[in-house]
Amino acid sequence: MSDLVQPRDDLVALAGYHSPQVDVPVRLNTNESPYAPPPAFIEQWQSALRDVAWNRYPDRAAVALRESLGSFLGQPAERFFCANGSNEVLQTILLTYGGAGRRAALFEPTYALHSHIARITGTEIVTGTRTPTFAIDLDDADALVASHAPSVVFVCTPNNPTGTTEARDTVQRLCDLAARSRALLVVDEAYGEFAPWSAVELVDESRPLVVVRTYSKVWSLAAARLGFLVGPAWVVETLENVALPYALSTPTQLAGTIALQFATEMERRVASLVEERGRVFAALAGTNGVDVFPSGANFLLFRVDRDARALWERLLERDVLVRDFSKWPGIEGCLRVTIGTATENDAFLAALDAALAEESG
Ligand code: PMP
Repeated sequence: MSDLVQPRDDLVALAGYHSPQVDVPVRLNTNESPYAPPPAFIEQWQSALRDVAWNRYPDRAAVALRESLGSFLGQPAERFFCANGSNEVLQTILLTYGGAGRRAALFEPTYALHSHIARITGTEIVTGTRTPTFAIDLDDADALVASHAPSVVFVCTPNNPTGTTEARDTVQRLCDLAARSRALLVVDEAYGEFAPWSAVELVDESRPLVVVRTYSKVWSLAAARLGFLVGPAWVVETLENVALPYALSTPTQLAGTIALQFATEMERRVASLVEERGRVFAALAGTNGVDVFPSGANFLLFRVDRDARALWERLLERDVLVRDFSKWPGIEGCLRVTIGTATENDAFLAALDAALAEESG
């Protein structure tokens, strides 16, 4: 690093967020959809692009997109805030409700960007723990919130990277805890479509609850960068004051609106990924030396009884890229695999068998 100009002191020690982007045939490391969007979606989107008034700024309020999301999720349009990926939604939340002198509570191990964005925004982090099955312990959460009075509480369900889905009752009680301490409960549902229930149904004007969703996973639109939250209109209005004006481009807004017309196709894909998740889970559960955790998402976390980093490398040698969590506190010795197409999953399972056999041999 040059010493000509220095970043903020509190950012110097900050590590970037890097999931290696290695170009291999079977990429199961970033929980994307294995499918391209439907060809009819691309056609409709490209045709809509021909009519864009390119010399004009985009609709700042993203009215059409928010109305479409509203009818899709059964909530009024004013309860939606949209941004360039759910990471940007999380950043806007922390710029608004976090910051210097404020605290964000989170339960590790969880999505790395919650603590990363908290640090970037100068928000202090207070950390709760999880039970051995990675569920949030409500007594622990109660004590954490009572003693630190955070202004934001993060819950990721299904949780990345463990796959754990919190019960409705847990989220409701966390919401009560947050309300008592005048905190905003942020439920990150990046993988919500794969789970048996959604906290969107709890959103109303009386609860300090927002649910964050993304187009990057089931909607097959990671390249477009589009995420949103559903929350009380008074939260959305406050976030709009903080977000940069015209941040969401017209092509992105159009992609989000048009994608919702393909909901049936999306639901079919979710169903087939959930089925594949069951198949891969069963295969891992039946593999010697592997301990796999239940998941409500499109990935599985598993622990191995040997050097997990070396196994990750052996998988890569066999053209299969998974995510290495071997050194992560709380999930040491673990790897995470995204559920892909049946062919990709077969390639992963075959590579795993071969790599394990090679190490044992
Ligand atoms: N939340 C969670 C839990 C995630 O796993 C991810 C993506 N890895 C995101 C948010 C961010 O998604 P995006 O910015 O692509 O919408």
